[in-house]
Parts: sequence; C-alpha cells; structure tokens
Amino acid sequence: SKRIKVKALLESTQTNIEVTVMGWVRTFRNNQFIALNDGSTNSNIQIVVDFENTDPTLLRRITTGAALSVTGTLVESLGKGQKFDIKATAIEVLGDSDPEKYPLQPKKHSLEFLREIAHLRFRTNTFGAIFRVRNSLAFAVHKFFQERSFVYLHTPVITASDAEGAGEAFKVTNLDLDRLPRTDDGQIDYKQDFFGKATNLTVSGQLEGELGAMALSDIYTFGPTFRAENSNTTRHLAEFWMIEPEMAFYDLEDNMDLAEALLKYTISYALEHNAEDIEFLTQRLADEDKQKPQNERSEMSLLEKLQFCLDNDFQRLTYTEAIDILKDSTPNKKKKFQYLIEEWGADLQSEHERYLVEKHFKKPVILTDYPKEIKAFYMRQNDDGKTVRAMDILFPGIGEIVGGSQREERLEKLEQRMGEMGIPTEELWWYLDTRRFGACPHAGFGLGFERLVLFVTGMGNIRDVIPFPRFPKNAEF
Ligand code: ATP
Ligand code: MG
Ligand code: MG
Ligand code: MG
Repeated sequence: SKRIKVKALLESTQTNIEVTVMGWVRTFRNNQFIALNDGSTNSNIQIVVDFENTDPTLLRRITTGAALSVTGTLVESLGKGQKFDIKATAIEVLGDSDPEKYPLQPKKHSLEFLREIAHLRFRTNTFGAIFRVRNSLAFAVHKFFQERSFVYLHTPVITASDAEGAGEAFKVTNLDLDRLPRTDDGQIDYKQDFFGKATNLTVSGQLEGELGAMALSDIYTFGPTFRAENSNTTRHLAEFWMIEPEMAFYDLEDNMDLAEALLKYTISYALEHNAEDIEFLTQRLADEDKQKPQNERSEMSLLEKLQFCLDNDFQRLTYTEAIDILKDSTPNKKKKFQYLIEEWGADLQSEHERYLVEKHFKKPVILTDYPKEIKAFYMRQNDDGKTVRAMDILFPGIGEIVGGSQREERLEKLEQRMGEMGIPTEELWWYLDTRRFGACPHAGFGLGFERLVLFVTGMGNIRDVIPFPRFPKNAEF
C-alpha cells in the first residue's frame, strides 16, 4: 500500500484500513510498542508488534534512531493520549542505528548538548516543532506581501557596497590569499580580483531594494544576510535571514503600520497553522519556568504572550520621549537609569529597551525619531536638524526586532549627510541616481527573521531557531 505521512494519518476518519508509514524509531518498549516519528508532526504513531510471530533478529534491529517502513492495519488505540495504533503486518528496517553509538538517547537532552550535535537535533520534538514553525512563518511572510501586490525582488548576495558602513562585511575574493597581487604602492590590487573591485557578502539588501521600489512601487527581499560581527550573543548570528520591504510613496506612519501588520499577520498565521507545535513549545517553556525561582518566572505563558501581542496596538513614541521615561524610572530600588544614560543622543542599550517593553509599557514598542548620529546616512532628516525619521520595533524578551526608516529622498540633504559621515558619493552614484531622476518619498524596514522565530517559539538563543547556525568558530556543517 501507498505510504502515508503520520500527520495525514492522524486525520484519518477510517479505521481497519491497510497503511504504510515510514519514519525513525523514537522508542521501542517491551519488544512490542514502537513509537515511530516521521517529522510531519511531533505525535509519534504507535506500532504494535506481534513479537511472538516476528523474527528475533528483526526485533533486535528495531532500535532508537533506526529507519523503518511499516505496513499494517490502522486501529483505534486502546492506550491513552493517542487516537490510532498500527497493528504491524510487515516491518522492514531501512537503516540500522547502533544503540551503543547513537548520540540521541530517548531522554531529555540539554539545548547546549544538542547544539554540539546540531546535525542530529532535527530528530527531537523541540527542534521538530521549531523548524515547522519557522517554515510556516517564512510562508506567511510571502503570503502577506503577495496579498498586497509586493514584488519579491532578489537582491545580490555578493555586492561592492557595505550598506551600513559598519565594517562588518565578509570579504569575497578568488585571489590566492598567499600571493595577493599588489599595486606599485603596496596595496592589494583588487583590479585583479574576480569582479575587478573589492566585494563582500551583503549586510543588507536595502540600497538595491530601493532601486526596485523606485519603479515597482512595493518590493520585498527575503534572503540570507551576513555580518562578521562578534556575534557571541543570544540575539546575533553571522548568517541570518532578513525581510526587507521598500515602498514608494510611504511615509514613516505608513511604514510603522505595515511593519506592525506584518508581525501580527505572521504570528497569527503560525498560531493557526502550528497550534500543536506552539502548544508543545508553551508547555516546554512552562516546564523550564518551574525550575526557576518564583520572581524570575514569566507572568504570561508563550501562548498568552503571542495572543497579547495580536490583541494590542504597539506603543508608539519618540526616542526623546523614551529618554524622558528612562531618566525618571527606577528599574530597581538602588539604581536609576539616569546614571546609565549620560545625555540625550546615546544609543539605547538592550537593558533600556527591555525596560520600556517589559516593565513600563508591557507591550511591543515602536521608537521613532532617533538622533541622526546613531543612525545610518540614508534616513530622512527632520526639520529640527538633530533627529531622523527612524523607527525601531522592540519586542518583549527580544529587544530590537525591526529597524527601519523613511528614506532621505532629497539629493542635497543626502549628499550633505554622506559628506558629514565621510561616505564617498562617487561609489554610490547608482543609488544617488534614484534621487536625481523621479525621487519620491519612500520608506522601508528590515525584520530579522530569526528574531521573529525566537519570539514565536519562546526559545532563548537565536542559535536554536536556525537549522545551521553560523557564529564565531562555528561552521562545521
Ligand atoms: P542590533 O542592534 O540587534 O545589533 P542592528 O540595529 O545592528 O541590530 P539592523 O541593521 O537594523 O540591525 O538590521 C535589521 C534587523 O536585522 C534587526 O532589527 C534585527 O532584527 C536583525 N539583525 C541584525 N543583526 C542581526 C544578527 N547579527 N543576527 C540576527 N539578526 C540580526
Ligand atoms: Mg548590530
Ligand atoms: Mg540596533
Ligand atoms: Mg537597527
């Protein structure tokens, strides 16, 4: 009979039919009950083995991790917690797994341990749930933009521009590093490099995205982004996925509305399509919470946190208003933030952001109109001469999840700011052309996809929400 996936099988309305399932053994109890998982759902299907009539050699090969093909009759389960069992009539071992050597034992492993065997962690319930949720969120991102007639524009992975100028780009070269060609004055001669100039992996597709928006009106990119930052935090990766929409004829208000709508849409899509996985992750977090002292436990469950985020408008305020709140607040009895924020103009630290979100407003926050000194050159300048039309969206437990702005469309203002910041205008001539020919108000933002997955799964470390995390000293597989 034809193979059926466990998820589909559990939705069956018929019993006493013959079915074939294929998957990996999670446990095998009493030579009689196999818990088989095929990754389509966290629920295992229980296989009932007629062990008296089964070859003992075959029984010995049914070990944790082994791949099986099982044909049998679908019957209503007598056990609790499962709807169906399969009474096996034929079992074939497709791939053995030596129980002495298999790293994943049928017990709870720590996330730290699983990170060391990230090539096998897909086979646990936690990571099964995470990557199914991640999959749904990615699909929902496309669905959201496609329903609004945005064009999915593929911006280049290899580029000659370091959009943020933050010096965090990975260089790309095909030159022999042991014998780099030099110019007469001893500099590396990038003219001899593959592209005839120095190139790097993209740190953001924004500048190229703006070119698309200046003709297609609304575009988005959604692809891998690379930053050689010292990403030894629980919120940074060297390779992460970013969603970057750019919209012509948008101001900052429109930009905020779109970002808030996107976040709510994707979260609600996952809640609807991954109810079982999110319930599992909610329970996982609740169990973890029980290990903590009372005062460190979270006030809301994961499910409540997600629902709360959908039910409430994000709090919108300016950077200056946020500083006033932080100055007057007493995060703990001894210390005041005013000792931490020296003066207006400093960038907020994550403890400030988290205070605003988690303690003061107790909901997602959109901060706008940051000092121009701490933001990129392309943000639209306000009339006060001090601030720019920036927005950062801050989420509970995450901090910054979105960074965006209305873009500076006025050529003179843009050139003047680039001059002040020492950014050579010649190199970005193509970018400035959009301001020379048919410039219009426009805006956009970048949403860190893994930060969204972190929020929805309730996980604590960004390395656990991407299949193959890249961070310093880690690129084995
Ligand atoms: P942060 O302040 O957290 O370092 P950023 O301000 O440097 O972030 P942006 O350049 O504004 O980041 O990028 C847009 C979004 O991309 C961020 O809001 C965040 O969600 C995500 N992001 C940035 N850097 C990383 C990273 N190293 N790993 C994962 N996500 C990231
Ligand atoms: Mg950064
Ligand atoms: Mg930031
Ligand atoms: Mg930012």
